[in-house]
Amino acid sequence: MKVLVLNSGSSSIKYQLFRSDDWVAIASGQIGRIGEAEGDLKMEWIDADGQSQCSKDNRPIPAHQEGIDHIVDKLQEQGVLADVTELSAIGHRVVHGGPHFKHPVVVDDEVEAEIRSVIPLAPLHNPGHLAGIEVARKHFPSVPSVVVFDTAFHQTMPPVSYRYAIPEYLYTEHRIRRYGFHGTSHQYVSKRAAAMLDKPLAECNLITLHLGNGASAAAIRNGQCVDTSMGLTPLEGLVMGTRSGDIDPAVLIYLWKNLDLNAAAVSHLLNRQSGLLGICGVNDMREISHQAEEGNKRAQLAIDMTLHRLKKYIGAYYAELGEVDAIVFTGGIGENSVEIRHGACEGLKRLGIEMDEAANAERIPGERVVSTPDSEVKLLVIPTNEELEIAQQALATVS
Ligand code: ADP
Repeated sequence: MKVLVLNSGSSSIKYQLFRSDDWVAIASGQIGRIGEAEGDLKMEWIDADGQSQCSKDNRPIPAHQEGIDHIVDKLQEQGVLADVTELSAIGHRVVHGGPHFKHPVVVDDEVEAEIRSVIPLAPLHNPGHLAGIEVARKHFPSVPSVVVFDTAFHQTMPPVSYRYAIPEYLYTEHRIRRYGFHGTSHQYVSKRAAAMLDKPLAECNLITLHLGNGASAAAIRNGQCVDTSMGLTPLEGLVMGTRSGDIDPAVLIYLWKNLDLNAAAVSHLLNRQSGLLGICGVNDMREISHQAEEGNKRAQLAIDMTLHRLKKYIGAYYAELGEVDAIVFTGGIGENSVEIRHGACEGLKRLGIEMDEAANAERIPGERVVSTPDSEVKLLVIPTNEELEIAQQALATVS
C-alpha cells in the first residue's frame, strides 16, 4: 500500500508518494503558481526499472481541484500509483492546529471547522491547507485524510513555557499563547537521535535545532517537548532568513507611532524583510558565508547575530533541561553549514560540548556524529524528513 503526503499552500501543492512497506519515496513533486496564467509543474519518480525520472511542464492550474487532479493523473500515468484504492491514507501537513490538537487526526467536518477557526492564528498557511484537504476529501471519499500538525509535538509544553506574561483573558478568550512550529521535524529528528544514541526516546534529553529559512530550537525532556523558540506564530525566536525572531515588542509600537506603519506593514517588515535579509540584504546562508569570506562586514554581522541568538537558546535550554544527551542540527543550514555548527558550539567545553572539528568539516550526506568521543553532550547532524514523518503518522493514525 501507499501513502500520499500533501503540503498545500495558498498557491502551491507539494507532494510525496511513499510505499508503506519500506517507506521509500517513489514520487515527489510540486505544483506552483496555482491560479495564475501559467502554473509550474514538476515531478520526480522512480520508474519500473528503478531509475529516477523527472518531468517539468507549464500550464494553467486554476485551483487546488485541478492541482490534485493533475497529481493523481500524473502518478497514474507514470505507473507509480495503479489507482486510488492503493492509497491507505493521505497525510496533510497543517501548520497550525491551535490549542486542541495534540496528535494527528482523521479529518471530518468538525476537524475542518477547528482548522478553520485557527485561521486568525495562521492566516498565511491554514487557508491553503484547507483548500487541499477539502478537495482531497471530496475527490477520494474512500481514502482517509489525516492531518498532521506542526504545532502538535509542542503541545506537551508546560504553561511556564507556553504562556506569555500578559493579561490572562488574552489566553483564555483569544488563545494567545506560544504554540511552536516545525514540530514534525523536531519529532522526527528526536526519534532518529534516540536511535543514534541507542537509548529509548523516553529517556533522552535533547536540544534540537531546525535551522532552515525558518529556524527554531526545541528543548526535549524524556522525549517530550518542554520548550521551543517559536511562539504564537513562527516569528518568535532565532534569527531567520527573513524573520526577525525575538524583538522588543515596543519596536512594533514605535513603528506604528513614528513611522505610521499599520499592522499589515509591520507584519511584512518583520516576516519578510527582517532576519538575515534585513541585516545584510541577502537571506541565503550560502551566499552570506561567501560574502563574509570576501570581507563583507554586514554578511559577517548576520552570521555573528545568528550564532549569538543560537547560543542564547542553547544555553537557556541547557539550563532548563539540566542534563543534555545530544544537540541535534537539522534543516538546510543545520545539515550543511560547517561554520554555523562550529560557531554554535564554540567555547562550550565547560558544558561538556566538544565538537570534533574534522568530523564537522566533512561534507558527507546522512546522519552523523560530529562531537569528540569524550564529549558528554553528543553533537548530531540529522537530515530532517518531515514528509516521511507525516506519512508514517498518517498511516499509524488510520491503522
Ligand atoms: P526551508 O526552511 O525553506 O525548508 P531549508 O531547510 O532548505 O529551508 O534551508 C535553506 C537554507 O539552508 C538557506 O539559507 C541555504 O543557504 C542554507 N544552506 C543550504 N545548503 C547550505 C550549505 N551547503 N552551506 C550553508 N548553508 C546552506
